Amino acid sequence: MNDMSVTMRRLERLRERMRQRGLPAMFVTHPANRRYLTGFTGTSGFVLITEQRAVLLTDFRYMTQAAEQAPGYEIVQHGQKVTDSVRPILEDGRIRSIGFEQDHVTYGTYASYAKELAGMELVPVEGLVEELRMIKDETELAIMREAARIADEAFSHILTVTRPGVTERELALELEMFMRRKGAASSSFDTIVASGERSALPHGVASDKVIGAGELVTFDFGAYYRGYCSDLTRTVMVGKPADRHREIYDIVLEAQLNALERIRPGMTGSEADALTRDVIKRYGYSDYFGHGTGHGLGMEIHEAPRLSLASSTVLQPGMTVTVEPGIYLPGFGGVRIEDDVVITETGAERLTFSAKEFIVLD
Ligand code: ZN
Ligand code: ZN
Repeated sequence: MNDMSVTMRRLERLRERMRQRGLPAMFVTHPANRRYLTGFTGTSGFVLITEQRAVLLTDFRYMTQAAEQAPGYEIVQHGQKVTDSVRPILEDGRIRSIGFEQDHVTYGTYASYAKELAGMELVPVEGLVEELRMIKDETELAIMREAARIADEAFSHILTVTRPGVTERELALELEMFMRRKGAASSSFDTIVASGERSALPHGVASDKVIGAGELVTFDFGAYYRGYCSDLTRTVMVGKPADRHREIYDIVLEAQLNALERIRPGMTGSEADALTRDVIKRYGYSDYFGHGTGHGLGMEIHEAPRLSLASSTVLQPGMTVTVEPGIYLPGFGGVRIEDDVVITETGAERLTFSAKEFIVLD
């Protein structure tokens, strides 16, 4: 739940952007965007913003909750068709065109809006609220620090139960239960526990595989806490490491630390990506690092900006991103190390603090 001054500030910033784009009205349907603007956590609702009015439309189940959580908004109960409630609000403001979120509206929904709002111009809009969400305010950063802290604690805990003989799935369950007990509403995505050869799968969601001795185990998980995500990866060794385990671990760590030290505002996403990629390349492993260096995170686990070869987004203070290089050797195993950071005026500040030395568990 947001306090009212926070959501009203966001609303004003949105109106500014609407004016810049010449949009007299905006219809927001994406759940994270709706929650960001209003503070309303219900699973069904629509936000209609005009210069004069800020309306949260929801159904009868949520009327009380909406009024409590979104005090700066007019709460309107909609019926079968939300457009029946939207039309009079637009007519009331003599508004002839309305923006909608092109990336979050299906073709079927678009077709019914077009029919039900005949006479209105429907303007496809890309990433309007998402652009605001890229820069986190202090309220958000405080929550994200807490989400990150829960993940850090869960990693310390999982080290005490990781040993040969347990399955990946048991460890994933243990991580998730631990985070729930610490206040997380859920995990922020499907927990990855990938051991042995499976650790070479960048997205090895926990399986029934039993952890064996002499295996790398990658944990990639996060807490979903008060509407925000954390995302943490650590790779540990179970049993005696081979030289190559240590070798690839050290390279990934060097790449990750290089990026944490040098990432700063003014860089593009691709320049930030090069901070890990160049190190891995120097050691001859660039063919085994097939994903981007990181991604924005916040209300969603993957959001703008991307830190990748193709990203031209310029990093700005207040953006929260992951830094997660990896090396994956098919048939052998892989290493990934991931932290969450917030871009500051001069560099980056970490949100996650779990140990990164090469951990060997017996
Ligand atoms: Zn992750
Ligand atoms: Zn990630």
